[in-house]
Amino acid sequence: MNIIEIKGITKIYDIKTMPFQALNGIDLSFQQEEFVAIVGPSGSGKTTLLNIIGGLDSPTDGTVIVDGVNITGLSNWKKTDFRMHNIGFVFQSYNLIPVLTTKENIEFILQLQGRDKEDIEKRALELIEAVGLMNKTNSRPNKLSGGEQQRVAVARALASKPKFILADEPTANLDSKSAENLLDIMEKLNREENITFIFSTHDARVMKKARRIITIEDGKVIEDVLREKVL
Ligand code: ADP
Ligand code: ADP
Repeated sequence: MNIIEIKGITKIYDIKTMPFQALNGIDLSFQQEEFVAIVGPSGSGKTTLLNIIGGLDSPTDGTVIVDGVNITGLSNWKKTDFRMHNIGFVFQSYNLIPVLTTKENIEFILQLQGRDKEDIEKRALELIEAVGLMNKTNSRPNKLSGGEQQRVAVARALASKPKFILADEPTANLDSKSAENLLDIMEKLNREENITFIFSTHDARVMKKARRIITIEDGKVIEDVLREKVL
């Protein structure tokens, strides 16, 4: 079964003088365990598409079905609840809580799920290990490099056991070595833990690590290829 199915998605931003069509009839489906890059020039609609898939924004037209649930039809609070339990997000700006350590940033999300204290600590440490940050467990974000902060953000996104992770330009603020390192960790989580990742990127090196590459231009899908077949 497809974990995500989007059909006929259009998005028109209402600007007083001139409405702007950011997405123009997008149909896509994604299966569990995919590792997908969404690429295209700046302004092509990548962020808008990821926000709509994740229920952070609503399409003007079309449907988004996640794990059999039509999220376009949900009320705002139901959508928020669905998102919290099913979808992990990673943003280009990391968005960690500055006064909390690596471990506390992750525990914070686990606490929202009402788990007991020992279970929370055990799970937080497992997640920190999965992103290779055991030596930064008690560091606050300002003591971490950009790449390390983004690895904490990936661990945090995994904390709620989402069905998939959406990452909008996760490497945009990273040097190429950190970007490659982050992608290697994401790829390992995909291969070993079957975590589904859908990420947008401008970076050709990051793009090459994906197994499926979807190219968007002017709000339309112009190419959708599996890497095995192109190489
Ligand atoms: P990308 O992520 O590929 O850079 P975006 O989805 O951010 O593309 O933007 C697609 C287009 O929609 C751009 O032209 C952008 O200026 C426009 N856009 C994005 N968000 C808004 C908004 N909230 N209001 C008006 N226009 C927007
Ligand atoms: P990206 O890094 O993906 O290209 P953008 O710089 O296009 O992102 O957009 C960053 C944020 O600003 C997004 O949340 C988008 O919705 C908003 N945005 C982009 N373009 C516009 C616009 N023309 N008017 C209002 N908001 C916009």
